Amino acid sequence: MEGMSDERTTPGDEYSAPDEHSAPDEHATFEDLGLRPELLKALSALGYEEPTPIQQEAIPPLVGGRDLLGQAATGTGKTAAFSLPVLQQLSAHRRDKPPVALVLVPTRELAVQVSEALHKYGRDLGARVLPVYGGAPIVRQLRSLESGVDVVVATPGRALDLLNRGSLQLGEIATVVLDEADEMLDMGFAEDLEAILDETPRERQTVLFSATMPRRLDALARRHLNDPVRITIAKEKAAAGEAPRVRQTAYVVPRGAKPAALGRILDIEAPTAAIVFCRTREEVDTLTETLNGRGYRAEPLHGGMSQEQRDKAMGRLRSGTADLLIATDVAARGLDIDLLTHVVNYDVPSAPESYVHRIGRVGRAGREGVAITLAEPREHRQLKTIEKVAGATISVQTVPTVADLRARRLDLTRAALRESLLGDELDRFRVVVETLADEFDLMEVALAAVKLAHEAGGGVDDDEEIPQVGFRPDSGRPDTRGGSRDGGRGAGDGGRPPRRSSGPAGRLFVGLGREAGIRPGDLVGAITGETELTGRDVGSIEIHQRFALVEVPEGAVDDVVNALRATMIKGRKATIRRDRS
Ligand code: AMP
Repeated sequence: MEGMSDERTTPGDEYSAPDEHSAPDEHATFEDLGLRPELLKALSALGYEEPTPIQQEAIPPLVGGRDLLGQAATGTGKTAAFSLPVLQQLSAHRRDKPPVALVLVPTRELAVQVSEALHKYGRDLGARVLPVYGGAPIVRQLRSLESGVDVVVATPGRALDLLNRGSLQLGEIATVVLDEADEMLDMGFAEDLEAILDETPRERQTVLFSATMPRRLDALARRHLNDPVRITIAKEKAAAGEAPRVRQTAYVVPRGAKPAALGRILDIEAPTAAIVFCRTREEVDTLTETLNGRGYRAEPLHGGMSQEQRDKAMGRLRSGTADLLIATDVAARGLDIDLLTHVVNYDVPSAPESYVHRIGRVGRAGREGVAITLAEPREHRQLKTIEKVAGATISVQTVPTVADLRARRLDLTRAALRESLLGDELDRFRVVVETLADEFDLMEVALAAVKLAHEAGGGVDDDEEIPQVGFRPDSGRPDTRGGSRDGGRGAGDGGRPPRRSSGPAGRLFVGLGREAGIRPGDLVGAITGETELTGRDVGSIEIHQRFALVEVPEGAVDDVVNALRATMIKGRKATIRRDRS
């Protein structure tokens, strides 16, 4: 896109980008997308190494002035996909008052998130970005509008409010973005959107992003978009059938608990060698530091490191001096590491193709591979898309508890002792046991010896409980519960599945227990994976030697029984029935 000036082009202009249906070049850089130096600098400072697929496809036509209709979920990098072109067309350090771009979003959380993104990317351009939403003091928003802004990020209700007061002027708007448009329609904002769009210049550029494309949205798009470029992320099956034999698990973890959760999972999984994928260089550096601080042996690997540094990191992994590689996709590209047993996605990957590439690194040559994904409660939909596109089955579990971890550590100690009993030459210790046996019972001597062995092998016991959460029933967009919705307007919660955890509880009998290695997470994972229940719907769980009892909402018992009968738990068929004891 060189030769592109800062001047705006109108939607009617000829757009000469490559065929929009061709696959994006997998290795395109942000420079290739024709972004201005101020933006490239900001992206590089943020550690973004390459554009995500939606950015590769959307940025060139948007910079060229085209309208766009994009189907993409949160987590694909769609915010940057529309924000960068908006900023690209902004005169640096503009002084005029009325905004030139308007981003409409369904919720206050998203308004804040998007304006933070715009602010970050547009720092060197001096971009003035204002989030406006219901529930916040309007006076401050009025004052900011009065002193001048470049981009307004608004919920439709508040935008209309400000428009009616005459404080929001839309006469100079060059670009309107409708983000998560399906959500806005679901929330009853259709009329507000129409009213707002009517106040913007007809020759504006219009961008619409939505996770789903219901028919009603089509009508809106037909009315307000002018010959849009259409982009669907994850429309094709990625190399179907190529997915290797890999055990795939996702753990639902709140963002803040991710480092602790990762540690816990690594303790339970005990990988020989694992690669942990992060989105940015900063995330790589921070996570490496955190994990090393917690006693793991992690090496960073990202595009900001010299070849020599990277070779060194790889060498440490190969020699066993390190067992974790914390990497970005770019840095890990082309690496072929035989001994990898685990791939961890620290975030849900932005594209299903990238998930498939990543997990393709394990499960080779008939060995079992394990893929672990840390998903935030709102990322349910993305994970479902990955499952569909990758043809994968990802079992959703809650993070192992402290009790699980202790049980696992004891298992490891028992295994180590057993190995020693079978193989080691132990005679030279006989004198120690014999002398102690004069004074103590042999069982007590053994207990003390096991304790020492356990402590020597186990590292520190971490007692930090990690919140046990499930996917939000309406996830796929930021949480909007807790009265934060835009002034209570619109259709509210209509159509959302009710929380079921409040009703009376029923109980299930599952004919597998401790003997079969069953942990609470296995049962929660099976139930949430096979039914519509979330982790929070599952009540108390008792695991006995040969069976387990699980509480679920009374009204869901029959469904759960049927669903679990049709599946396996820990690779085994189990007797499942309603428990009436
Ligand atoms: P979004 O889908 O817009 O909600 O973005 C998801 C996350 O990906 C955000 O935390 C962004 O900061 C991050 N992100 C977006 N684009 C990139 C990129 N090209 N490289 C790395 N991270 C990115």
